[in-house]
Amino acid sequence: MKYFSNQVAAISILLAGFVFFSCSQVTEPRTEMVMGTVCTVNAYSDGTTKLYDELFARLHKIEDDFSVNISTSQVSVVNEASGQRAVPVSSDVLYVVRTALKYAELTGGAFDPTVGPLVKIWGINTDHARVPSQQEISAALALINWRDVVLSENDDGSGTIMLRRPGMSLDLGGIVKGYAADELTAILKARNVKRAIVDLGGNIYVFGTKKDGSLWKVGVKDPSAPEGNPALVLSLANSTVVTSGVYERFFIQNGVRYHHILDTKTGSPARTGLLSSTIVCESSIAADALSTSVFVLGEEKGMALLQEIEDGRAAGTKFAEVPGLHARVSAVFISEDGSVTASKSLEGVLQVNNGTPVFK
Ligand code: ADP
Ligand code: MG
Repeated sequence: MKYFSNQVAAISILLAGFVFFSCSQVTEPRTEMVMGTVCTVNAYSDGTTKLYDELFARLHKIEDDFSVNISTSQVSVVNEASGQRAVPVSSDVLYVVRTALKYAELTGGAFDPTVGPLVKIWGINTDHARVPSQQEISAALALINWRDVVLSENDDGSGTIMLRRPGMSLDLGGIVKGYAADELTAILKARNVKRAIVDLGGNIYVFGTKKDGSLWKVGVKDPSAPEGNPALVLSLANSTVVTSGVYERFFIQNGVRYHHILDTKTGSPARTGLLSSTIVCESSIAADALSTSVFVLGEEKGMALLQEIEDGRAAGTKFAEVPGLHARVSAVFISEDGSVTASKSLEGVLQVNNGTPVFK
């Protein structure tokens, strides 16, 4: 009997050891395709299987809730019910849609989460991408208006979303990766991770500093040669870097490049002389919404918007209710002529590999 219990004890110790070992052993960084893009997290010496499992489960849940390519996602159900009824949604979905609507208001509709009908007819990044007729574009434009999204909220943060007119549809592709990066950062914080890099298809968060206390170097692709050396390098800690560019998702027809950032005034890919716009700040949901926004607005209006945000932040009142605008927001623009313009706040942070940036 004694022998038996000793054996059991030995086996339990072995098992406990195994479980402990498999949870706490530091593993390689993890990469998976989620939300239609390559997502990588590297938590360095804190990167265990258990941690990566938790982070990637969160990403898959976000994809399941938000993807318009999954017919059962909450967002798809809202779209399906457009013009008919208010659809119950989780607090996560309500938060992201409410935030998207705030950015729509802030940007005068340059950023508009009801861009769905336009995204559909262009089909960019699908096997049926094509230039739609002017008639199709006009019909889609008539369905786009962020003011026609009606929200209601319950005490627990969940609520309902109603799209007022039939045929309207939400597309949160311009903001959801930023939300996802913030969610992962929250998990990293809760698990006392010291340092990590989150890369959701170029939507970057650098968490903490490097092991020796120095800053991370974050590269931004050269839009003219995306596979080559980065055009920009930013030295940062605890920051997000989000870029919207013409090289991410596009097709070429008759020598013209049609990319996936759409101007909700013209109904076509935004043409403002930019190849890419990058936002640097603390909140990835803000950076994602704003990188898309300033790309559509162009350099001049984009810079003016950031100045307005900064003035409002300094005054302490304006935009206080918009998630992500509590800390400074900076931008870098790469223009078609190759010139680089950046916010003054990035002096000493931004390095341009080919040329000299103009700080404004
Ligand atoms: P990426 O997906 O490459 O990170 P962005 O964050 O700039 O790029 O988002 C582009 C996506 O946002 C498009 O694929 C589409 O889903 C959506 N979108 C396109 N134009 C707009 C717009 N004017 N306002 C809001 N969302 C948009
Ligand atoms: Mg974006």
